[in-house]
Amino acid sequence: MEGNFNDYFVYKNGKLYCEDVNLESLALKVGTPFYVYSKKAIIDQINNYKNAFKDYPTLICYALKANSNLSILRIFEENGLGADIVSGGELYKAKKAGFPSNKIVYAGVGKTDAEIIYAINENILSFNVESLMELEVINEIAGKQHRKANVSIRINPDVDPKTHPYISTGLKKSKFGIDIDQALEAYKKAVKMEHLNVVGIHCHIGSQIMDVSVYKEAVEKTVDLVYKLKKEGIELQFIDIGGGLGVKYYPEDNPPTPYDLANTVLPIVRQTGLKLILEPGRSLIAQAGALITKVIFVKDKKDKHFVIVDSGMNDLVRPAIYNAYHHIVTVEQKQESMVADIVGPVCETGDFFGLDRKIGKVNRGDLIAILTAGAYGSSMASNYNVRPKAMEVLVDGNNYKIIKEREDYHYITKFEEEVL
Ligand code: PLP
Repeated sequence: MEGNFNDYFVYKNGKLYCEDVNLESLALKVGTPFYVYSKKAIIDQINNYKNAFKDYPTLICYALKANSNLSILRIFEENGLGADIVSGGELYKAKKAGFPSNKIVYAGVGKTDAEIIYAINENILSFNVESLMELEVINEIAGKQHRKANVSIRINPDVDPKTHPYISTGLKKSKFGIDIDQALEAYKKAVKMEHLNVVGIHCHIGSQIMDVSVYKEAVEKTVDLVYKLKKEGIELQFIDIGGGLGVKYYPEDNPPTPYDLANTVLPIVRQTGLKLILEPGRSLIAQAGALITKVIFVKDKKDKHFVIVDSGMNDLVRPAIYNAYHHIVTVEQKQESMVADIVGPVCETGDFFGLDRKIGKVNRGDLIAILTAGAYGSSMASNYNVRPKAMEVLVDGNNYKIIKEREDYHYITKFEEEVL
């Protein structure tokens, strides 16, 4: 029989609860599939970050890409966090959720002119600039707007984060940032540009990092550059070390904590006296969320069993694109177990949540929970196969609130119908 995976999704009398909300009863009320988030899980992890870095001036900018539901963003904003964005759309959502502009940093290799104008007019804390051409374009646009843009340079420290190649971003061969050996020249150019304020230095080496020692290497290289810049008379205000802290996906995972991160990076950053910026996404929200879905059919082939559920890769694409593992449990604790592929209804062989998984023996109508789904779940969802995106629900103690309505067919086709 399944045990408890974390403190926020626990079995009580054989039924899975999110905090004090019975997920079977919730499913009866709101229908399936739906994402459910524990507010307590979010607040606890915010406090872990805050406590871990409380001795050093640190701005924690939540990476919206992990989950940009407005109600979730409000929780981060109300708790004093800033925002790390990568698009005009994320800037729009960050502002809508109430984040002040002086707590917003903006990365991304391909910012369009319209996005740059938008962010300049919002007077954000910093553009994290990823190429020489981008520096020149921001300078030119800021000039035309009669403004000065705050910029940091995203350096690529060539450090292997020892994670999935698709989420490794700080290697020389990756498209992100300016190579560390070219960064000094880039800074010298940037400080001469009339419409730029050069305010910081940025790096982000990857996501789902389980070994914090890779941060040591990246931050040491970054700080080394800070000293070189100082020698050239280029004084910065902050050092932004990105996000990336890993989370528990497998039951046996033991991910590093914000305290491990602080113990690793603060001794190095402290020497510079620069303010620190962090950009955690996954580690703030992943554990808080689960995707609840209903078994439509159970299908037995000769040597193989399939559990076909009413959610698919359009709701949670991580297994399909990264072969990512999500732990899957039944919402009702079962005495007997089975081994099966847990698959969605989408017409792709890659549409699975787990292959050859041992789970409680389920039947048509049973509910299952796909855990650690709070990050890069709903934010990566699509309408593939013309499937309305799942509802989202926030649990707080024994209360729940729908924080995103289930999409319907009219919503999905609206912009096509309008031009028919
Ligand atoms: N900052 C930048 C620039 C990123 O690209 C990412 C993720 O890709 C993040 C922060 C958030 O990373 P994570 O969700 O692993 O904390």
